Amino acid sequence: MSIQIVKSIREMQDLADRYRQADKTIAVVPTMGYLHRGHARLIELARSRTDLVVTTIFVNPTQFAPNEDFKSYPRDFERDQRIAEHAGTDILFAPEVDEMYPDGFESKVEVERVSTILEGAFRPIHFRGVTTVVTKLFHITKPHLAIFGQKDAQQAFIIRRMVKDLNFDIDILLAPIVREEDGLALSSRNVYLGETERKNALVLSRSLQYAANKIQKGNHDVPELRREMEEIITGGNPSQIDYIAFINPELFQETDTITPPEVLIALAVRFGTTRLIDNIIVTLP
Ligand code: AMP
Repeated sequence: MSIQIVKSIREMQDLADRYRQADKTIAVVPTMGYLHRGHARLIELARSRTDLVVTTIFVNPTQFAPNEDFKSYPRDFERDQRIAEHAGTDILFAPEVDEMYPDGFESKVEVERVSTILEGAFRPIHFRGVTTVVTKLFHITKPHLAIFGQKDAQQAFIIRRMVKDLNFDIDILLAPIVREEDGLALSSRNVYLGETERKNALVLSRSLQYAANKIQKGNHDVPELRREMEEIITGGNPSQIDYIAFINPELFQETDTITPPEVLIALAVRFGTTRLIDNIIVTLP
């Protein structure tokens, strides 16, 4: 079956109903498009798990602050279509903004505490926009399974929290971070990086890997590890380090003590005007 493009919410809901009535399982992979191998990995994972794979492409205006890159966010629908199809998408749901947010729209879905820290401290309306649009996408595509990337670790935690709190009958699966060969985490925003910034941005994965190695060798001194990471990152001439955080992944709380089984190290750093995020989960021996 070749890929089907759907732009209407009603049509998508009718298709989802028909598949469910035929006892077929549905997976959804929500994206903002400008697809890369990270997105493709999510789609392939969906393909291996369910009968119908719906990939959504929607650059969601409500998760961008006025000073952020909504307008300039990279878009290439034809290329996305090819990548999505090649990775195993059956239906590409790509609504226009007016279809998702018609006049009079005024509802919000909010996961409270965890949406205000780390990414949320720098992007105060961001996660409210994400949880609202993901809720809408869930009601539109009616999936049994939804796949997200570990690249956006806080987003993944928030969506799991929301699904649990609000009793969405949907399994959430996380896919590991896909990286370039040199370590840079794939991101649609990497196209913003100039050649030098692109090289400098390698300090992010390098600093995460450095801290992970030290933790696994038994160094659990968080302030010292953070200082060393900061030194490595500063070597890449960033314009700003927003945060380097050591997080208990079960509670999504910052911590100064490293306790088994796992610690998540997450960071957000700007190179020029481009803001990159990356993270690593360290499993303790
Ligand atoms: P985005 O289009 O950036 O909103 O991302 C859509 C989905 O792809 C999210 O669940 C992301 O976490 C995931 N994703 C983005 N980049 C990567 C990557 N490098 N590796 C794995 N998943 C990713």
